[in-house]
Amino acid sequence: MDRRAGRRSLTAKQAGLTLAIALLLSIIAGIVELALDARAMRHEIVLETHYRIDLVHGTAAEAAFQLNPELATQVAEGLLSGGRIASVTISDDFGRVMAERRHDDSDTSSWMVQALFADILHYRKPLVYQIGSDNAPTSIGELELTLSLDSLSRDFIDRSQLIFSLGVAKALAIAALLALVFHWFITRPLLKVHAAITETDPSQPGRWSKPVMGVHGNDELGHLVESVDRLLQAFQHGLDQRDQLQQISTMDGLTGIANRRHFDAFLSQEWQRAQQGNHDISVIFIDIDHFKEFNDHYGHVAGDDTLRAVAHSLTRVIHRPSDLVARYGGEEFVCVLPETNLAGAQRVAERIQKEIHALDIPHAHATQAGRVTASLGVASSYPAQDDVAGFEALLAEADHQLYRAKRQGRDRVAVQT
Ligand code: GH3
Ligand code: MG
Ligand code: MG
Repeated sequence: MDRRAGRRSLTAKQAGLTLAIALLLSIIAGIVELALDARAMRHEIVLETHYRIDLVHGTAAEAAFQLNPELATQVAEGLLSGGRIASVTISDDFGRVMAERRHDDSDTSSWMVQALFADILHYRKPLVYQIGSDNAPTSIGELELTLSLDSLSRDFIDRSQLIFSLGVAKALAIAALLALVFHWFITRPLLKVHAAITETDPSQPGRWSKPVMGVHGNDELGHLVESVDRLLQAFQHGLDQRDQLQQISTMDGLTGIANRRHFDAFLSQEWQRAQQGNHDISVIFIDIDHFKEFNDHYGHVAGDDTLRAVAHSLTRVIHRPSDLVARYGGEEFVCVLPETNLAGAQRVAERIQKEIHALDIPHAHATQAGRVTASLGVASSYPAQDDVAGFEALLAEADHQLYRAKRQGRDRVAVQT
């Protein structure tokens, strides 16, 4: 639908916002987790290094006691193979180096790794040896060890990446879940209400398809729908009243057909249309014959019934939506026939005459056959472009023809010559 073009989806906006918030929170949580992990890592490293030193202490002390460089070298190499250690030095009691091993440690660590681990890199452990169980242990050398900052840096980066990847994955999962939940509980029902409102016919707002809100029946969304419904029903009520008033103001109260006011407006409007469309327009005047006598003889109630019956018979003949039948006043009626020439209008007038005959309403004072008849005057015009008020002449001509019909003996159709 075109209306959707250029409109950003509420679900997409809300999902984007949720994702942004979740990512921000996951970054903050990641930093806190990283700080805690760095502390735990420091603790682990220190413990592990002391454990390693303790493991080799006895052999290293033996090597120092025996002044055995081969054994000392084996100890140093054993320690170095552990991975995290960058250099090992074993020296005797006089400070002479017995064995020294080191890795090529290309230091690529960041300032952060330096700040976190620089103070736990170096270890010195006195080598203590006890000759016989009666003698006190004496220091006979020293084991010095340095951890590889590069290796610590790699471990730390690996752990950081894991922490942040897990954090981002969690954020994505939470954002997706929240987007789904929000879409299901808020956006979807809102879209339902929106669709119902946009699909509502503005001319019949009260007939909108009020959405069923289900679980939202009693919350803000449900109340929104109820408020919109009340508003639309009020609009509908106003429109109905307007239509009723409009109908009353354009309708003849006795016969239910158009009244004189509506006729005047209609004729002037159709005259203009005929001017613009270059087509004929015809008018038929209908006047019931000797109606005064009818009323005097049968009474006004019967007179009113006859007026209604004649009006009804006119509507049976004139049924083109573009035509109009109106009560001109008293016992006079008028028909406007747009896009109809004189010959066509004459045929219509003759059908009207027959239809009134067919009513067969008795009329004791009628000149013809003892029933109600009417005289009809027909006129037609092809409006000139500049003849703005020509419809008055058209009416006058139809009126003239009507009185010609009267003069010629009534119950007939007189046509403009
Ligand atoms: P003509 O054949 O020359 O038309 O004679 P007529 O008696 O029909 O004409 P006239 O104009 O003398 O009288 C019209 C009568 O129509 C007068 C009145 O009694 C009657 N009339 C007008 N309006 C109404 C109405 O609303 N109800 C009823 N019952 N009669 C009406
Ligand atoms: Mg009259
Ligand atoms: Mg009359």
